[in-house]
Amino acid sequence: MVDLNGQYHKIQPEVDAAMRQVLERSDFIHGQAVTDFERALAEYTRSRQVVTCASGTDALQLALMALDLQPGDEVITVPFTFVSTVEVIALLGLRPVLVDVCPDTSNMDVTKIEAAITERTKVILPVHLFGQCVDMETILQIARRHDLYVIEDACQALGAQVTFSDGSVHQAGTMGHVGCTSFFPTKNLGCYGDGGAVFTQDDTLAAHIRSMANHGMSQKYYYDQVGINSRLDTLQAAVLQVKLSHLDEYIAARQQAARFYQEALADCPGMELPSITPFSTHTYHQYTIRLASALRDEVKQKLADAGIPTMVYYPCPLHQQAAYRHLAPRQEAFPVSESLAKRVLSLPMHTELTLEQLQYITSTLRSILS
Ligand SMILES: *Cc1c(COP(=O)(O)O)cnc(C)c1O
Repeated sequence: MVDLNGQYHKIQPEVDAAMRQVLERSDFIHGQAVTDFERALAEYTRSRQVVTCASGTDALQLALMALDLQPGDEVITVPFTFVSTVEVIALLGLRPVLVDVCPDTSNMDVTKIEAAITERTKVILPVHLFGQCVDMETILQIARRHDLYVIEDACQALGAQVTFSDGSVHQAGTMGHVGCTSFFPTKNLGCYGDGGAVFTQDDTLAAHIRSMANHGMSQKYYYDQVGINSRLDTLQAAVLQVKLSHLDEYIAARQQAARFYQEALADCPGMELPSITPFSTHTYHQYTIRLASALRDEVKQKLADAGIPTMVYYPCPLHQQAAYRHLAPRQEAFPVSESLAKRVLSLPMHTELTLEQLQYITSTLRSILS
């Protein structure tokens, strides 16, 4: 599915030198490389503020903590996502309110948002799944109309760009009040451990988030609020600084592999390819096809028998998980998410895929389905 070792070896001299520099300086916590990386990432995303933290999950938690919400306040999000999105809402004593996703993009169905808004609603939290952004222009309009915050879960979509109807172009994570991303090793910009970042265009909010990530500290050993300990290691920041300079190449390599899949599988019967929206680029964190639910597991097994790894993101929507079942007591509450969970299959997608591998994957898939 991924080739992190192959990717490391291509940039080994740069990475090794950057890590050695941190070791020599030994500024392991909040070191120079963290400050440098935050500045570089802000420039790359054209975000006014970037605050790094320990993971994408923490980025989401910090975003919610910074908005001064009250227990029981409602956050509208989706059931077809990685667990963190809903987990942090529940952990903070807030109420996740789920809306279904679109069958073609697997992203939040924005036509369902307004019906889910109540007087307790404070936040809309869309997820840019698989590397393609949600219809943010519509979400921002709804949020303005109802005076709500928007937090973007851009953990899978760093580098994706949205074009608004006025022609302006915006980076994933920088359109909402707060945006969140993850540097988990397999993400498009991954480090060699855990890491995350929060984006905001609001200086006051950024200062609040920075303090929250550092125990709620204002000045040394004085605490204004209850915070957490969440920081990006200096060593990881040094790795990320190197890898950020290659991110555009990495995204281009993924898009090239996706183009190959798209062309080689275009007329293949029995499957649907990822949909492209007119408003967002796709950075292909995952290349996810949709099969008939009766065939998906069999196709996955046959590909595995041929030595081709695939993954199901995600096999069970969150409202059907033991921890979150109370969020949707009704059966078939979110039919699109439930159907996608049975139909999706993510093909190998990374920066080191060779033409030979792509040809083998697509011809094997075609012969299984024909
Ligand atoms: C990876 C991911 C997260 C969590 O990121 P971590 O760094 O693993 O904590 C949250 N949301 C989505 C959609 C993700 O893909």
